[in-house]
Amino acid sequence: MPTRDATNFAITDGLRSQFNPNGDNRKAFASDVFSDRVMREKLPKDTYRAYRQAAVTGHTLDASIAHTIATAMKEWAIEKGATHYTHWFHPLTGTTAEKHDSFLVPDGLDHAITEFSGKQLIQGEPDASSFPSGGLRATFEARGYTAWDPSSPAFITRTKTGATLCIPTAFVSYTGEALDEKTPLLRSMDAVSDQAIRVLRLFGADAGVEKVSATCGAEQEFFVIDAEEFKARPDLAMCGRTLFGNPPEKHQQLADHYFGTIPERVQEFILAAERKLIALGVPVRTRHNEVAPGQYEIAPEFETANVAADHQQLTMQVLQSTAVERGLACLLHEKPFKGINGSGKHINWSIATSTGVNLLDPTEETHLNVQFLAFLVAVIRAVDRHADLLRASVASSGNDHRLGAHEAPPAIISIFLGDMLEDILEQMCNGGLKNTISGGTMRLGVSHLPEIPRHSGDRNRTSPFAFTGNKFEFRAAGASCSVSWPCTVMNVIVAESLADVADELEAALKGVTDRSKVSEIALPILARIAAEHRRVVFNGDNYSQEWHDEAARRGLPNLRASEEAFEAYRSDRAKSLFDRFGVLNERELESRYATFVEQYRTELLIEARTMIAIAEETIVPAACDTASRLYAATEVATGVSAPAASVTKRLKVLMETLDQFGAAVEKLRDEVAKADAEEGVTMKDSVMPAMTAVRSLGDRLEAHCADADWSLPKYRDMLPVR
Ligand code: ADP
Ligand code: MG
Repeated sequence: MPTRDATNFAITDGLRSQFNPNGDNRKAFASDVFSDRVMREKLPKDTYRAYRQAAVTGHTLDASIAHTIATAMKEWAIEKGATHYTHWFHPLTGTTAEKHDSFLVPDGLDHAITEFSGKQLIQGEPDASSFPSGGLRATFEARGYTAWDPSSPAFITRTKTGATLCIPTAFVSYTGEALDEKTPLLRSMDAVSDQAIRVLRLFGADAGVEKVSATCGAEQEFFVIDAEEFKARPDLAMCGRTLFGNPPEKHQQLADHYFGTIPERVQEFILAAERKLIALGVPVRTRHNEVAPGQYEIAPEFETANVAADHQQLTMQVLQSTAVERGLACLLHEKPFKGINGSGKHINWSIATSTGVNLLDPTEETHLNVQFLAFLVAVIRAVDRHADLLRASVASSGNDHRLGAHEAPPAIISIFLGDMLEDILEQMCNGGLKNTISGGTMRLGVSHLPEIPRHSGDRNRTSPFAFTGNKFEFRAAGASCSVSWPCTVMNVIVAESLADVADELEAALKGVTDRSKVSEIALPILARIAAEHRRVVFNGDNYSQEWHDEAARRGLPNLRASEEAFEAYRSDRAKSLFDRFGVLNERELESRYATFVEQYRTELLIEARTMIAIAEETIVPAACDTASRLYAATEVATGVSAPAASVTKRLKVLMETLDQFGAAVEKLRDEVAKADAEEGVTMKDSVMPAMTAVRSLGDRLEAHCADADWSLPKYRDMLPVR
């Protein structure tokens, strides 16, 4: 890995110039980020140094330094056209929140002056009572605080008429308990850092390492459709996914969309979004067509997990707002269309030192790299021990439609290592490490094509947690999720595992002064841990029935529905894990559980109600219109002895389906009422099957109704964008 300060990704002017918003790619344009470079320029040297300390190692800033930074930040923001500032935070809604304050205050002499103090930079006090708190706060206990996170750069967001300085902050209650996603993420990053440094110290590799950071690069999949069609679908507008609709005759069967030429209108939209993102400091890098028609992906260069999480939220927001500007709609739901691929968000995760070393890089001679094996074995153990928590971390009503379906990994969490590491693991468990398989090179059989290097293992796109060369790719996350929480879970489970590895190795190495002995002593311990947790490693086809059977034999959890998965947060094991590393205390963890369950139920109930409304307001009238047409066609024409049998048959089928549909809608209405009124109704046994029944009959009606009577745009119309 090239050496780079992973905590401080700075987009170079050269890169930025490629994204000139004015379309002239030769000219650089100014960034809207109060970046490290800007701070170095604008702040006195000792202030800048104190800021870096705070951002990298977490030293607290004193009031006068904060004031100097605040003043520089305000001047810079006003120069850039900002009139307001906001503490920007991540409540437990999965999105972001902001409350704007003007820089202007009256000076008492009929004038106004601009003001932004160190105190205003460091702390804000939004009313916390209307955000989900999962029982941490009662409605009357309203006080909450936002606290500046100096490790994530401030930035300016723009509308056509104004600009606002956004300061990334953590959000906690009056009691100091976390009400947001950033606080536990930052705490978990500290935990992983402390434990990783302990392991590095044992291998004598901690020199100059101030911090170890979790890194994250999240690939974002999404659909793009025309705004007119989006507006004509109340289900998309209310729920983000279609509640009715048959797949079109041609969708992804010919595999002609994946990596195909990006339609011009969509490419222009993506480029416009990328330009805004680059200005915001989001290092977007890759774009391509995804598998389904109308489906795309963009991915950034990775950053420290905290900054990546902030940037991922901005990515989702900018994609959606830019689409609107261009007469399009960007769908981030996990399953907007039934019967064709859904959208995920692959979270690429690793850990890197502040000196720029990726600790999950196996290097070429992996069998000699015992330090890497220590980190690898720690991850394997973490995933095996806490597969249930990882599964829970990506549970949502949207992802329920995706996990386990045929384009996404199953709900069984396992690790793909690839041939090379699988072989290393095998050698380790057999008591000795002799060699590292190399991929070698490949000849393509054409004299003028070069010989190309081959990786030491194939890829596996069916695995939920795959090692991909020098990082893990958590592929079970859904497209709309915030990466903060899954990253928090990965960090804390790995921190625990590293702590245990460090404990054992420290004990075994006590009194050993000869450094050359470290690997020899460490290896049998690592081999034992690997053998204990190897059951979670699976290199084959995760979609196959054989794997489901095999996983059951191995005792791996298979939590298909979110409602089952959320229970993982209530186990004693989970409580002591989060508490031990100071990431969440028992009350804070319980509040996550309550919030996630509530969100899940509420989303489903909104979907169910939208479904009933569409059924009654749109589908039943459409079916009646078609029935009238058919009825008219049964009138016996002169000279014909009986109506066309095909017409009467169609009418009969239509009327029968309509009756069944009406009954299914009634049943759904009852289930919704019950779920509303009674405690402890599980959605997967009540509302969900009732919705499935309504949908299948509604889709049958779509197929039976005249196109002219069906006012909802069909999949065929929406996919792809023209
Ligand atoms: P693919 O689709 O082939 O998996 P992409 O290029 O679309 O790959 O995305 C890979 C993602 O992984 C990028 O966001 C990249 O920055 C990220 N990544 C690469 N190295 C690391 C790392 N060490 N830590 C975290 N993320 C990483
Ligand atoms: Mg990709």
